[in-house]
Amino acid sequence: MKRILVLHTGGTIAMHEDVDGDVEQGAQNPLNDAHLDLPEVELTTENIFNLPSEHITPTHMLALYNRLKDAEQDFDGVVITHGTDTLEETSFFLDGTLSFEIPIVMTGAMRSSNELGSDGLYNFQSALRVAIDKQSKNRGVMVVLNDEIHAARFVTKTHATNVATFASPISGAMGMVNKRKILFFYDLPYKQTYPIKAVDKRIPVMKAYAGMDGHILSLLADSGIDGIVIEALGAGNLGEDAALGVLKLLDAGIPVVIVSRSFKGIAEPVYDYLGGGVQLEKAGAIFASAVNGQKARLKLLIGLENQLNTNDLNNYLHEF
Ligand code: ASP
Repeated sequence: MKRILVLHTGGTIAMHEDVDGDVEQGAQNPLNDAHLDLPEVELTTENIFNLPSEHITPTHMLALYNRLKDAEQDFDGVVITHGTDTLEETSFFLDGTLSFEIPIVMTGAMRSSNELGSDGLYNFQSALRVAIDKQSKNRGVMVVLNDEIHAARFVTKTHATNVATFASPISGAMGMVNKRKILFFYDLPYKQTYPIKAVDKRIPVMKAYAGMDGHILSLLADSGIDGIVIEALGAGNLGEDAALGVLKLLDAGIPVVIVSRSFKGIAEPVYDYLGGGVQLEKAGAIFASAVNGQKARLKLLIGLENQLNTNDLNNYLHEF
């Protein structure tokens, strides 16, 4: 018998359609009385929040972390249900802060509980099957929806409404849920995790664009932010004006993290001219590998909350 802790946090998987066809929250999570065909599992269920995931903040992620940090003693696995809009961020936060052997599996749904083709119960059962599978240990936090298993590290929401929304553009899915078997395609490279006690740092994310205004960036130098993530162009480049704004931020001692606004590939310094990645890095900007803006923000938050020095922060953001 496997002991699985289930934490429900809300999201479409916990919602239903009203008479007008609008999707809304209910007081009760429909999964609480779901009938599951998994006789060898003992579930301990907690409705820790009932929130649409747009209302989830790092404070909620920290509450999940605090609930989970000793869970390995009592459980063989964890399943967390969550709204899909910010699921990748909560999964990434937990993946970066909890160093667990037991699986943590997150899931959600794109169609609410009483909609035609609702995917919630199916995804929940798939997540439980992955959580009890013996191959699932030491894989960090996984995201299971639509018969695919993704590593929190690489997964992102790619479609606003389609049930096949979660994908790992850089690595591909880590595994697959079949009718009888769970298959894993690869193991993950090592990654550092850091514990966390607070989530107070202010870190905005800005997206670069042709003609990006450097003045707006320089205004942030005096705004009390603790760091900034810029989704830069291509391999991590900026226009001249934006580059001058970045120099002002760096002069003010604000960590500037560069990721690519491109959907695939990683940011790395290639070009040596004003705004090119080579010059941005020489000026002190940090290149974060294989993460999008929202994940780089959480990584910077975890690094700053752990008071990493410049060198360690650089290494931490660089590694996959
Ligand atoms: N708006 C919903 C949420 O993230 C979307 C979903 O769960 O699919 O809470």
